[in-house]
Amino acid sequence: MKINTHTHLFTLRNVLSREAVRAIGNRLRHKNMPEYLVEGIENFIYDLSNKPRHLTEDQLLEELVRAILNTDVFQQFAQNRLHEIPVLNAINIDGGHLSKAAFKQVLNSVSAWGEANDSAESTLFDVYETLRIALMPGSTAIADHLLEHLDADDALVGLMMDIRGDTETERDRQRFHSQRDDLMEASLQRPGRVFPFFAINPKRPDHFSLLKDAIENKGFVGVKLYPSLGYKVDSDEMMNVYAYCEENDLPITMHCNHGGFYVEEAFIDYCNPVHWEPILEKHPNLKVCFAHFDGHETFSHADGLNDGTWGRKILDLMENEEFSGVYADLSYHTDMMGKPGLEEHYLQTLNDLLSRPVVKSHILFGTDSWLLRLNMSDDLFWSYFREKLSGDQFQQIASENPKAFLGIDPMKKNFERYVRFHKQNRKNVGAHPNTWLQEQADTEFKVKRDHPNWTLQKYPALVVLAAMGSQMYSKQKEQAFSRKAFITMQELRFWNFKFVDEPAFTQECKKLSLDLVNQCKKAGKLEGEWTINEARQKFETIIRNGETRFLDLSFQIDGMYSFDYSSID
Ligand SMILES: [Zn+2]
Repeated sequence: MKINTHTHLFTLRNVLSREAVRAIGNRLRHKNMPEYLVEGIENFIYDLSNKPRHLTEDQLLEELVRAILNTDVFQQFAQNRLHEIPVLNAINIDGGHLSKAAFKQVLNSVSAWGEANDSAESTLFDVYETLRIALMPGSTAIADHLLEHLDADDALVGLMMDIRGDTETERDRQRFHSQRDDLMEASLQRPGRVFPFFAINPKRPDHFSLLKDAIENKGFVGVKLYPSLGYKVDSDEMMNVYAYCEENDLPITMHCNHGGFYVEEAFIDYCNPVHWEPILEKHPNLKVCFAHFDGHETFSHADGLNDGTWGRKILDLMENEEFSGVYADLSYHTDMMGKPGLEEHYLQTLNDLLSRPVVKSHILFGTDSWLLRLNMSDDLFWSYFREKLSGDQFQQIASENPKAFLGIDPMKKNFERYVRFHKQNRKNVGAHPNTWLQEQADTEFKVKRDHPNWTLQKYPALVVLAAMGSQMYSKQKEQAFSRKAFITMQELRFWNFKFVDEPAFTQECKKLSLDLVNQCKKAGKLEGEWTINEARQKFETIIRNGETRFLDLSFQIDGMYSFDYSSID
């Protein structure tokens, strides 16, 4: 079992606050993404946060490219480059009707031009790919995307993120809860392959009781910290968290570099490993992973491990005989790849460290999953380290060390709980467990869990069935609930009008879309700036597409509405 110790499985929608939209734009500018692209990307994301919705890959492509074409800054750029990017000549640049092929061609040509001429680290294509993953309908889909290129026994650590500020809207509170629930769902959908870490942010008043609940009742196995979001790691509240972690054998992963998301520049130092010495003195058995090892620079720059650097501090803590649980991961180490000077130094340093007795068993492999996609795919990141390290070295950082850090081998309380949790749910999982969990649980699992977006426990599926029920033929009504997800519009009664009586067809679509809006209203609230009429029109468009499945409708409802489940659980 190889383990990617650093992935994020939350969807963009689960973290998409206004603050986050701004941070994304800044991040792109930071990566030297040129203004002729950033403005359109920002507009696209703003629009998405104002009118949250599910997009298919084709719709994402079209809407993203259209948003870019429509900015003045892109139009100006295009004027000057017409002879260099021929596709811009061929299309009507004010975004008239374009085919899917044309959108794809614009995406590819602009990306290729940018790659050759801009100094940006990422192309428009990278942005598209990042959004394609980030906009998947849930954590299980993202986990599947990351597991797809791995072996059947391999696993991921899914790290939550809690970006709560000093205050929080009710909607954002719900988002945080659904981020947690969605991660727990992914863990039950893919037994033995997703290890959830709960995010602590002491600004959340009930963080401690939520932590206890996640660990004791929801199968979570560790804790994620992100101090540069604005909190110190040595407060009394945090000390309570560490005592609980030590008592329950919970490993902690803490964001530790000078970049990423930070609310104010002054908060960056909250991630400084120097703050951990006194904490570890009080809790010598605590396991903490300094994620990113403060960035690739630690290894690739000649002075990366000099006294006073974070990298040096991490190494010192790791080698300190008093502490046994200090780890660091290699996630998002991309910028040295293929760069003469940097790359050689990086690999040399990593090799040296992997031959040092204590250090070699405390370095962890991790990718950063879809956040990484602005630079490269998860797959490629795995291949790079597999290729550059020896087989033994890779086995060490991607299998042995993660197992020790997590508490899998030797097995600790947290993973005993994890196994128990999955045993309790053995009759309702989404896939066969991997070999490791199968052996540990030593019991039979039943694969019969509902699709995470099509379940009787969630409103969207119920709403679809309530609104479309009258349109089903008796045979369809008799189908099992899970099969109903795949019923398409063209298989329903109203489709009979489609080719013989267009006005009657339109009438039916209008009526059904109104039914949907009314059913949604009973249990949910429209998100963002959607008006009832716009929502109805949106549904009508979707219903008019014969290939739309009930499941697709549920994606859309889930995207456009928020439902309060707190009264249920
Ligand atoms: Zn990360």
